[in-house]
Amino acid sequence: MKDATHVLIAGAGPVGLVAANCLADAGVPVTVFEAEPRLPENLRASTFQPPTLDMLSQFGASQRLIGMGRIARRMQYRDRAGWVAEFDFGVLGDATAHPYRVQCEQFRLNGILAERLAGIPHARIEFSSPVVDVEQGADRISITVDGPAGRRSVTGSWLIGADGGRSRVREALGIALEGFTWPERFLVASTRFEFSDAFPGLSDVSYFADPDEWFFLLRVVGLWRAMFPTRAEEGDADLLSDDGIERRLQRVWPKSGRYEIVHRTLYPVHQRGAATYRSGRAFLAGDAAHLNKPLGGMGMNGGIHDAFTLAGSLARVARGEADPAELDRYERQRRPIALEYVNTISTANKRNLESRDPEHQRRWREEMTRAASDPQLAREYLMKVSMIASLRRSEAVE
Ligand SMILES: Cc1cc2nc3c(=O)[nH]c(=O)nc-3n(C[C@H](O)[C@H](O)[C@H](O)COP(=O)(O)OP(=O)(O)OC[C@H]3O[C@@H](n4cnc5c(N)ncnc54)[C@H](O)[C@@H]3O)c2cc1C
Repeated sequence: MKDATHVLIAGAGPVGLVAANCLADAGVPVTVFEAEPRLPENLRASTFQPPTLDMLSQFGASQRLIGMGRIARRMQYRDRAGWVAEFDFGVLGDATAHPYRVQCEQFRLNGILAERLAGIPHARIEFSSPVVDVEQGADRISITVDGPAGRRSVTGSWLIGADGGRSRVREALGIALEGFTWPERFLVASTRFEFSDAFPGLSDVSYFADPDEWFFLLRVVGLWRAMFPTRAEEGDADLLSDDGIERRLQRVWPKSGRYEIVHRTLYPVHQRGAATYRSGRAFLAGDAAHLNKPLGGMGMNGGIHDAFTLAGSLARVARGEADPAELDRYERQRRPIALEYVNTISTANKRNLESRDPEHQRRWREEMTRAASDPQLAREYLMKVSMIASLRRSEAVE
């Protein structure tokens, strides 16, 4: 290990904590600065893709997520009239040790990773410590941290900006976040109603195409999460009201009596990427580097893949096993995937679910029905949507 190598990380979300664990396991001293006083427990991602589980198993995290969550072995595309195209992740058995998705809230992963970090002497998390500025020198990088005892400067060898979509690190580095925000937002409502009683054979991950209002049903432990698009002209208060959510849920499955609504969230849908993932000794990863629709369950997973890729390179350079030029590879590996691959898949998903063109709907349904019934086509499709193909592509980059 080179003397005095120390990696600074802004943000204790899944991306910052994965990077911290990778680096700490490689013997690299690391400090994570988190703006909040404790790990946030808000409901966000809840899908762990097969290759993400493969990676997280090196921390013993996958087994724990499986214990706390649900294994989803199948996914379906459906419509209200009864059409179903079902894909079984089992066809990925030769490509992953986890041929299924795990449905578990992302804050549970954060808890596991932070707990693990607490047992490593050269790793630390500082809470209530937002990073507010960044300054670069030739061989060191300094950040200003607005901690409980006031502002102070902390110097390290490298900085990872894993401070989420509104990244202060990205802003301080002057890196533009390019792209656009969709005019409509997505509404997520969780309910204890058992949708699998209403739709026989319903899989834990089910997308319903509909030209009037598509929706997505996702099962986590004890709850179903229903996701809906909204119209630009709908106001927050109406969208989030009991009556507004009830109307949408009654369209999913009309039933007597009201739905019990356990959580509700409304959020903007971005399709954005940082103009560059590196500026000198600083790197961006996860939502700080790219934001896209959560429809394919790719935001957190793609960010975790960034973290493993970047931390692996940083660890090799810190240990003197690789030349610092290796660090330029990170952007070549991860940025094209976020831009082309992730955006293309999740945009196609949205368009296919919402299309009002009967010819488009007919072609897409035929394509999905054919792919679902042919093991070779099903495998190709699932390699893409479960992000194994993108990860292989990134690993092949020189
Ligand atoms: C409702 C919803 C559902 C989603 N569903 C899915 C899904 O099913 N699958 C999926 O893959 N993705 C999903 N996503 C996206 C996923 O949640 C994000 O991609 C993921 O959280 C990104 O992780 P991150 O670590 O990059 O950022 P974050 O999780 O946002 O973590 C950033 C951390 O940095 C901290 N921070 C912020 N500013 C600073 C600062 N200046 N200094 C220090 N710390 C700072 C924050 O407090 C936070 O703890 C969803 C998102 C939402 C909103």
